[in-house]
Amino acid sequence: MLNDAHCHFFSSPLFAALARQRTPAGSTSTDIRATADALCGELQWDAPGTPEMLADRWIVELDAHGVSRAALIASIPGDEDSVGTAVARHPERLIGFFMLDPAAADAAARVRRATGELGLRVVCLFPAMHRVPLDDERTREVVAAVAEQPGTAVFVHCGVLSVGVRRKLGLASRFDLRLGDPLGVARLAMEFPRLPFIIPHFGAGLFRETLMAADTCSNIHLDTSSSNGWMRYTPGLTLDAVLRTTLGVIGPSRLLFGTDSSFFPRGWQQAVHDEQRRAVEGLGLSGSDEALIFGGNFDRLFPPSKVGA
Ligand SMILES: [Zn+2]
Repeated sequence: MLNDAHCHFFSSPLFAALARQRTPAGSTSTDIRATADALCGELQWDAPGTPEMLADRWIVELDAHGVSRAALIASIPGDEDSVGTAVARHPERLIGFFMLDPAAADAAARVRRATGELGLRVVCLFPAMHRVPLDDERTREVVAAVAEQPGTAVFVHCGVLSVGVRRKLGLASRFDLRLGDPLGVARLAMEFPRLPFIIPHFGAGLFRETLMAADTCSNIHLDTSSSNGWMRYTPGLTLDAVLRTTLGVIGPSRLLFGTDSSFFPRGWQQAVHDEQRRAVEGLGLSGSDEALIFGGNFDRLFPPSKVGA
């Protein structure tokens, strides 16, 4: 069994939103669509088509790599419907995550609709990007709205934040890195002890603080996703050492395998999986502990759908 806790759903609305940042104010929707298509061409990425088409492509991709289930993140605020469509189409395979800007006037209402009507499970906060601190009342209201719905969780991106697609397109990213603080996640996790929190990429550079937060709060989980390029900030740090240290602090039940896969034609990042599998295998864990990391913990947080059963 293999589940991926971190993939991005790069939908047409995401490219349209990026295109809007590249077209003059007052551009027509036709202009924006043309710019969005041109962006995909410039990136040498496949245009996503409709959410239905992209969802089906993901299923083919997961099948090709033997991945049972995956989290798909709507990766621009306001794109809940795209992932909602994907999840409704493949409820037994896909778990819906969505980026939310807590500064939006309708943030809490969006959470209720997404976790209710749309069946999405995880709100993704990017405090450095949206410049809303974790101890801001707007963040607390969003988390409280998530907690109303059982089976949900909160994902908080901490540490260094670099959005590959923005970088490639030369779009400015004025992120306030001070705000992505794992200790801020701990404060929220203490206030909502029954709500699972997920910190991706071992805290993306704030590894020690992430371990402190997770050691203090048993509802904080970590994901292993991406190539973890932040390791270069610490001399000599290796993935093996990161995994060994993490497991020594929190054990195997709160670590979620993920790749951070996003665009096509690259698709699911087999190489990230292979590197992480090799590193985990080198730790000499029991088969059952390894299975928790690569799928069991994901199934516990997001139980397989009973639809059609
Ligand atoms: Zn990601």
